[in-house]
Amino acid sequence: MFLILFLSLLNPCSPQHRKTLDHYLDRWLGNQDGVYLFNYQTGKSLYKYHPKVLQKRFIGGSVFKLISAHYLLQTQDPDTLTAYCSGIARFHGRIGRCSKHSGHNAINLKDAVIQSCNHFFYHQYQQIDPDQWLTLAHQLGVLHHLKKMPQSPFLYAGVPPELSLNYYEAASLITFFATAIPQTPQFKMKKWLRDVILFGTASHVHFKGLGLSGKTGTGLDHQGRYNGVFIGYLTRYPYGIVVNLHQKIGTNAAMIAGDVFYLLTRKKGKNQTK
Ligand SMILES: [Zn+2]
Repeated sequence: MFLILFLSLLNPCSPQHRKTLDHYLDRWLGNQDGVYLFNYQTGKSLYKYHPKVLQKRFIGGSVFKLISAHYLLQTQDPDTLTAYCSGIARFHGRIGRCSKHSGHNAINLKDAVIQSCNHFFYHQYQQIDPDQWLTLAHQLGVLHHLKKMPQSPFLYAGVPPELSLNYYEAASLITFFATAIPQTPQFKMKKWLRDVILFGTASHVHFKGLGLSGKTGTGLDHQGRYNGVFIGYLTRYPYGIVVNLHQKIGTNAAMIAGDVFYLLTRKKGKNQTK
């Protein structure tokens, strides 16, 4: 019995689960959208929706704030980091908008992650060494195609479309935080990634059970079209997820992730908190 439970934890995707997930995702996703489900403790793939799409790169948007936030946590006292977000700012002759157009007002690092405030990270860019930031990104498994970071405050909020990643890089990035152990800077982020679901940019997710945590990202391509991303994980099961949706926003991607985890973990005949 324990062996069966252990095996089901390692690979929860039975043929019946795959059928259920395929059926659900066929209904909601387009042919350029993808979902990758994996075990973040073993790195093993559990389920792929649109395997061919999973070879492609996509615009990560605000998921890159995780790298900036991690950099700041390692190099600064987070309690001293604050910024004022009015919703719109001008840097180097370019206008930068925040995800919340009316502004987040005074905001600290924790809330800038939970609410995905662009302006906080624009303001902190003077605290960031571009070479060190890129080295950190490489260590976390992303942006290996970039050899040098241009000097732009927009990069550290994940705004430029040049900041792309593929599904496996995205899985590597979220795994770093999902597997964080206490007393490390990244462990602090785990609580914040839980709060993204409870109070932040993914608070519209239906399924918040089993410790769902993660980060939303909304990118804009060169044609001005949205690209919605969610990278996340459960804390009570070792399952991670990457969702990428064309012409949708990160909140939409988070809702798909919540539903996928619900379909994957629900127990027949038993009520489960949605
Ligand atoms: Zn803001």
